[in-house]
Parts: sequence; structure tokens; C-alpha cells
Amino acid sequence: MRPEILNPLFAPVTTLKGAGPKIAAAAARLFGRPEKQPARLIDLLLHLPHDVIDRHHRPALNALPKESGQIVTIRARVARHRSPPPNSPAPHRIEVCDDTGCVTLVYFHARGSWLQQLLPEGETRYISGRLEWYGGKPQIVHPDHVLTEEEFTALPELEPVYPATHGLASRTLGKLIRQALEHLPELPEWLDPALIRQRGWPTFREALLRVHRPETPADLAPDSPARQRLAFDELLANQLALALVRHHVKGRGGRALCGDGRLRERILAALPYTLTGAQERAVAEIIADMESDARMLRLLQGDVGSGKTVVALLAMAHAAEAGAQSALMAPSDLLARQHFATIAPLAEAAGLRAVLLTGREKGKKRKDLLAQIESGQAHIVIGTHALFQQDVAFADLGLVVVDEQHRFGVHQRLALQRKARHAADVLVMSATPIPRTLALALYGDMDISRLDEKPPGRQPVRTATIPIERLGEVIARLVQAVERGERAYWICPVVEESDTLPATSAEERFATLMQAMPGKVGLAHGRMKGEARDAVMEQFRRGEIAVLVATTVVEVGVDVPEASIIIIENAERFGLAQLHQLRGRVGRGNKPSSCVLLYRDPLTATARERLKVMRETEDGFVIAEADLKLRGAGDLLGAKQSGLPQFRTADLSQHDELLAIARDDARRIILQDPDLRMPRGEALRHLLYLHERDAAVPLLTAG
Ligand code: ADP
Ligand code: MG
Repeated sequence: MRPEILNPLFAPVTTLKGAGPKIAAAAARLFGRPEKQPARLIDLLLHLPHDVIDRHHRPALNALPKESGQIVTIRARVARHRSPPPNSPAPHRIEVCDDTGCVTLVYFHARGSWLQQLLPEGETRYISGRLEWYGGKPQIVHPDHVLTEEEFTALPELEPVYPATHGLASRTLGKLIRQALEHLPELPEWLDPALIRQRGWPTFREALLRVHRPETPADLAPDSPARQRLAFDELLANQLALALVRHHVKGRGGRALCGDGRLRERILAALPYTLTGAQERAVAEIIADMESDARMLRLLQGDVGSGKTVVALLAMAHAAEAGAQSALMAPSDLLARQHFATIAPLAEAAGLRAVLLTGREKGKKRKDLLAQIESGQAHIVIGTHALFQQDVAFADLGLVVVDEQHRFGVHQRLALQRKARHAADVLVMSATPIPRTLALALYGDMDISRLDEKPPGRQPVRTATIPIERLGEVIARLVQAVERGERAYWICPVVEESDTLPATSAEERFATLMQAMPGKVGLAHGRMKGEARDAVMEQFRRGEIAVLVATTVVEVGVDVPEASIIIIENAERFGLAQLHQLRGRVGRGNKPSSCVLLYRDPLTATARERLKVMRETEDGFVIAEADLKLRGAGDLLGAKQSGLPQFRTADLSQHDELLAIARDDARRIILQDPDLRMPRGEALRHLLYLHERDAAVPLLTAG
């Protein structure tokens, strides 16, 4: 149960003055709240400003900054209004002057009478806004503030600027946050007193007050005591939750699964290749874990195409040697089917029976499969989360492999471990190449094996960036390639109805390509029925169609080695991690492959940099580092796409030093007080709730 003192912070934002349904909806979107769940005061409070407007500086009008774009505050007399003729689109201009010079204020579509009231001729006003130089003259278009002397004294010299969203401007956020601060209680201190003293950190409450009411711009710097405190809190909550999972899982006595290697031998003999060094290392690490009597909790991390599947299969064969069953859980039906197609023949070569169980196996067939699983006839069970429904009983489940493909989070892992009653060993496979700091934040509970070496014979993928204006050319080249017998993916971003950006929908592109290559193009997107979509993918796999137009449904692990071309449209709208995943669909066979990133100008600086990184490297870890650097705090989209943990107050590109401290602290806490019952432990429960790591709280008393 959430400590009572925190309840006011979890009240919906609509309890604040001025927050109606529209604002509430925008806030829910901004904070990425799950469907139908309102944004709360805590979301506002942890939404930190990313900038300040400094109104400290009040230059004389002959000493204005020489470049456009700076925020200035001036004190000036209203000299004269120049209203446009009636019905003219021209703006209303007002000249204001001090003893040294003049500035023009510009208002479009404003009522003259309102402006006369706001800026009466002859009066003195404080005006604040973005300065622009236009035809050699200074002007301010739609000033942020026009204030009287009295009003001006009430204005903060430093106004925090918040990452905003459509329908919820920074200024509105500021007003709501100032109200929310009034509901912020002093909470028990959960940090180590020695650390606080050493770092000179404020309390949680003081830190929030300081960042939302900065006294100098330095208060918002990533290394300010307030920002560091808040970042550390969040990192500690993250590490503590992971440490709890680890403690809980490891502590629930695993079992030693010992094999004699005979089934593994048979599988290795059936493979048309030999393992890479990295694969051999990973297999050895996994088997050592399985043979120990502590429970395995291991992450197998490797870029797309690095060969994780066979490693998992060898682990499953090892479990079978020990007489135990294995389950492989994939994030979608399609992927489960694909794994089954790869694994079943190899398993069979070793005399093992693999079965497929998804939501689509129904009726008699399902009953039959369930019986095989329950009797132990099925050694390897491959499926989706349907594997963990109530009616699925295993004879003896010894190993659970989760193919995560960055779709499952810590929450799902917890759910899974709760369901795997038999204290099964857990192997999670992830295709997200992540820097070490991020691995710690995401998988601090796990041991890690990395496949950092690609199978031999892979050809590099040539990557080009081409503006959408040259679409005709790209299509013509694609037609030629298809005539040569090549197969290609054409990826379009998912376009939401409300979206105003120009982007091509997959349907539309499918129509164009069908015209160029009748009968050779298929379409697969997320809104199609599962069976229909799989049928199209299957046609593509068999080569019955040469071009697959798709939204990002192909992102998650589709394996068609013959595909050698991928064209990604509106590439500027994808995150780096996603572009890398998509490009990984090609270059899987031994033919040279290419990737075309079609983009639409104007590109933001970040988008340009992302495309450049894609052109320059194929190394997933280099791309991941670049991604981390490029992703600003405000770029929530990128974070969501890549499935990385979304920190609100911590920025891993700035606070990685704190992450290591948080990890050590969390481990120490669990050693001393694994159920968080001591005074500091009690306080730490508050922290877990504040940062919504409370999924870990039931672990404190369970087991
Ligand atoms: P991942 O799941 O890591 O993206 P897969 O397991 O799907 O990668 O493997 C990608 C491709 O590489 C598959 O076609 C697989 O047969 C092949 N492969 C795996 N290991 C090797 C190896 N050691 N040598 C050659 N090919 C390999
Ligand atoms: Mg795979």
C-alpha cells in the first residue's frame, strides 16, 4: 500500500485550478500515461524545466544584443501606434522608445482597441520577449509580457521553461507546477546521510522547489546539487527495484540442471556452420549458470543477426539433457512462428520435440498441445505470453527463455517470474545494443552475456541518404533490382490520424509501387489481422512477392535472409535505435545489401546527425552510444521507440557517475535490510512509490 503521506501527490491534475479536460488530456499525453489514466501532480513535479528565460538583463535600447533570438526585457515609453488599414493582413506596429533608441512591437491579428489599452501612448511599460532584427531594425513579435511597473516587480527574473506539448504550453505547465508545489509535503529522508553531507544535497522537497523556482540558471545545470539529488533519487529507485528482483529470484532456491552434452553435440552436428567465439562463450556462461543451484537470471545481448537463437536452443537442449522442459516466449505470434520454424527441425535432429502454442492454436489442437506439455512429451514449448495462461501446465519447466526484442519491460519480467512457479532458470534475449551504463539501468538485476561478434561471411550494408524529391529515381532503381531477382523491404512510418506532418501512409506507397511492379508487391501493417499479415510475410519469405511494403511490424526480428534491400521512408521520423533495428533486416545472407534512408527536408539538427551516424557505422554499440548522446531530455519519442528506461529527472548521458553509486547503495541496502523494515528502509518505500518502482514492493513480503 502506498504510504498515505504520498496520496496528495497522486491526485489527478484536474484537482488543480485551471486544469480542465483539455489540459488533462494533453498532460496525460505529455507524461506518457497509460490509456485512461490521468496525469497526476507527481508527474508535474518531476517534469523539470530544461531552460530558463533570464529577465535579469535589461539593456538600454541602443545596447540590445546584436543577434536575433535572444530574450530581452526592456523598459520603454509607448511612442505611437501604427494600425494597419481595415481588412489588411498587415500587422499592428507599436513603436516604443527610451532615451537611447526605439524598438517596434509587432502584433498580427490583434484588435487595435485591446492594444491601445495594453500599451497606451505616452505610458511606460516593461516589455519582455524574443528580439529579432528585421531590415536592420530591432523588433519584438508578440512580446511574452507587457507589464506595468507594479506588475513587473511581481515577475520572476528567472522563468523556468518546460518541455511542452501541443495543447499544453510551457507557461501553463509552470502555473500548474507552482500550484502542485504547494501540495508537496516534507518526506522522510531516504538517502544515506553520509552521502547527503558529502555532496551537500538538499532534501527532496527543497530540491524540487529549487529547480522549479530557480534563483540562477546554474540551478538547472545537470550538476547542480538539486538536479543531482533528484537524479540520484530516481536512479536509486531503479537500482533498488532491480536489486529486489535479483535478491528475490536468486534467493528462491534454483536447482542444478546438469547435462552430459549429448543433445548439444547432436545439434551442433546438425548446424551448417560452427559457432562464433562469442556464441561459444555465451553458451559456456549459460550452462555454468544452469548447473549451479542458484537460479539463473541472465541476459543474452546481441545485435540483430548475431545468432542468439542457436545459443538459446543449446541452452534448451542442456535443460532436456537434465530431464527438464524449456519454454521460449516471443513478443508476437509472428516471431513465435519464426522461432518455431528455425528451432523445430534442429531440435528434431537431436530427438527433441518442439511445439508451438500461441493464442491462435484453438480447440482440439490446443487441447492436444496442452496434453503434450503436461505429460512432458513436448521438450521445448515456443509461444507468446499465452504460454503463461492458467490452463498451461508443464510437467517440469526448467528453463524460460524470453525473446525480449525490447518489448518487455521490468514489469513483465516480474510477472513472468511470478508465473514460473518452478524456480526455473531465466534467460532473456535482447537485440537492443546498449551502452554499459544503460545495461546497468535496464538489467541491473541480471548477469550479462554479450554476442559482440557477427557470424562470418556477412557483407556490410551500404547505406545512402536520399531526399524524397528523388523518389522516382529510387523506385526506378528498385524496379531494376527486382528484375535482377532481389527482394526488398519498403518501410513507412505509422501515421496517426491527428498527425499533421506530411508522411506517406503504407497504403499509399503500396499503390504507387504496385503500379510500377504489378503483382510483385505486398502490404503488411499493424492494423491488418494477424493471419492476413502473416500470409503476406510468408509470401515474401517464399519469394512469391519481391517487395514488402510495411510499417514497423517488420522491426521485431523478421528473418528473410534473401532480402537485400531496405528502403526507409521518412527516415527522419525514426529514432536511431529503430533505424538500426530496421536496417538489421538486411545483410543477413551472403549477398551485398543496401539501405536507403529517404528523408524529407527540413531536417532538424538531431535528425541530420542521426542519418549521418547511420551512414557512417553499422556497429550497434557505437550507434547506441551516439543515440544516448543525441537524445535530449525532451526527446521522449526516441526513448519510447527504443524501449530504453524512461527516466524523468535523471539523464544517463550526464548522470552515469551517479548510477554506479546508486547500484552500490542498492546492493548494500538489500544486504542489510532486504525487506526494507529498518527506518531507512521504510523511507525508501516512499521513494519506490514516488518513482513508480512499486511493482517491486510485493517482493518484500512475498516468498
Ligand atoms: P538474432 O536472433 O541474434 O538476430 P539469429 O539467431 O536469427 O540472430 O541468427 C541470424 C542468422 O545467422 C540466422 O540465419 C542463423 O542461422 C545464422 N547464424 C547464427 N549463428 C551463425 C554462425 N555461427 N555462423 C553462421 N551463421 C550463423
Ligand atoms: Mg532472433
